[in-house]
Amino acid sequence: MVAFDSSWTNWGQNQSATPAFTYRPETEAAAISDFRAALECATEVRPLGAGHSFSPLVPTAGAVVDMRRLTGLTDVDTARRRARIRGGTLISDLGPELWSHGLALANQGDIDRQTIAGACATGTHGSGARLGTLSSAVTWMRLIDGAGQVREIGEDRMRELRAARTSLGALGLVLELELQLVEAYHLEEIVDYPDWPEVQGSAASMAATWRHFSYLYLPRTESPELYELPVPADWTPGSTCYRKRYREVAADQAPREGQAVDRSYRVYPGSFSVKFHELEYFLPASQAREAATGVRELLATPRHRGQAYPLEVRWVRGDDAYLSPSSGRDSVTISVSGKPGESYEPYLRDVHEVLAGLGGRPHWGKLHYFTGPELRSIYPGFSDFEKVRREFDPRSKLLNTHLRDLMLEG
Ligand SMILES: Cc1cc2nc3c(=O)[nH]c(=O)nc-3n(C[C@H](O)[C@H](O)[C@H](O)COP(=O)(O)OP(=O)(O)OC[C@H]3O[C@@H](n4cnc5c(N)ncnc54)[C@H](O)[C@@H]3O)c2cc1C
Repeated sequence: MVAFDSSWTNWGQNQSATPAFTYRPETEAAAISDFRAALECATEVRPLGAGHSFSPLVPTAGAVVDMRRLTGLTDVDTARRRARIRGGTLISDLGPELWSHGLALANQGDIDRQTIAGACATGTHGSGARLGTLSSAVTWMRLIDGAGQVREIGEDRMRELRAARTSLGALGLVLELELQLVEAYHLEEIVDYPDWPEVQGSAASMAATWRHFSYLYLPRTESPELYELPVPADWTPGSTCYRKRYREVAADQAPREGQAVDRSYRVYPGSFSVKFHELEYFLPASQAREAATGVRELLATPRHRGQAYPLEVRWVRGDDAYLSPSSGRDSVTISVSGKPGESYEPYLRDVHEVLAGLGGRPHWGKLHYFTGPELRSIYPGFSDFEKVRREFDPRSKLLNTHLRDLMLEG
């Protein structure tokens, strides 16, 4: 089914477009023929997931292929703990389906409203020093490339797989992907509210010990409500933090007071009904304290004292995808947000200066201020990705203005 001149806005409402053609295929055969038609009739073509990226990855005046109707598991190998999943499947639907086969994702992020292909395409992650991004679990993929050819990429084609795991939708339309999963597990969630010095003093050892460890710094009185974080009545803005740890437990373990035990996929996602515009950078894990302290100091300056969204700190294991922000290094991620409608850009730019100076790489789905030449120097695999991209999309039909600025030299 194709719609003409239908307008689109992302979750954050900071990106919008009116593509000439919007395709919403309901079967795989339709996705292939729609994508081929789009390649012929539009100047450029972009795959669309759930629209949860803050960066302009999707907007185009050409064609958009919305994959949200191509959902579900297509194959499950319980012995190898692998499943094949259609690209448009929402992570929120995946949890119960995998659970019914005794399987689960090894980790998840703060929400589960993204499509699995969209989340993998940007290197979406949760927290856990021993756990990689979602895309690091991709073992196979079937996509239709920029020349209209259907390709299968498995572990026997590692060069292509390393490009396809975090592809920004620039290699083709992902019809189906296979993930390495783990046995279904329960998590106990432990939340506490230490002050900043205590968090910093224990962060490295907690990150090394806990399955999931993360914390949020809450600069202002209104900070908790912006991310819907419960806080005790006596908390102090600018000092008290929100610290979260998960450990794997047996299903029948009785929850202790104030602590929750549940199926993993029900523990991970938080609730975000207040809009925000987020920037997030990955840095070497060894820079965790310096990076978080640098951003906290910015929040204390008169210039940025009005910024109220929490500062979030998470850990991610290194991987080998060419464009993964955690490629080749165990990482810590630092994220901050601006309030829609307010002039938060000077704050985000100052955060960029601090984090870029410490070796930061951008989360592709979030706001950032890197130029194409800078990205080439901070991603060792950038030119390897570019070679695969040119093989898959020789006419560069899958790049929009944003990606052309980042990808094409000169
Ligand atoms: C409230 C909120 C919370 C978030 N929390 C986290 C978090 O905890 N951790 C984290 O890392 N990120 C987080 N994000 C960012 C989000 O996970 C990423 O931006 C993710 O890529 C969005 O997935 P999507 O399905 O919405 O894809 P979209 O935003 O629609 O698209 C993202 C990219 O994927 C491509 N794409 C989509 N579908 C396909 C397909 N079938 N084939 C090929 N390419 C495709 C698109 O072309 C685009 O380049 C959050 C975002 C929001 C709004």
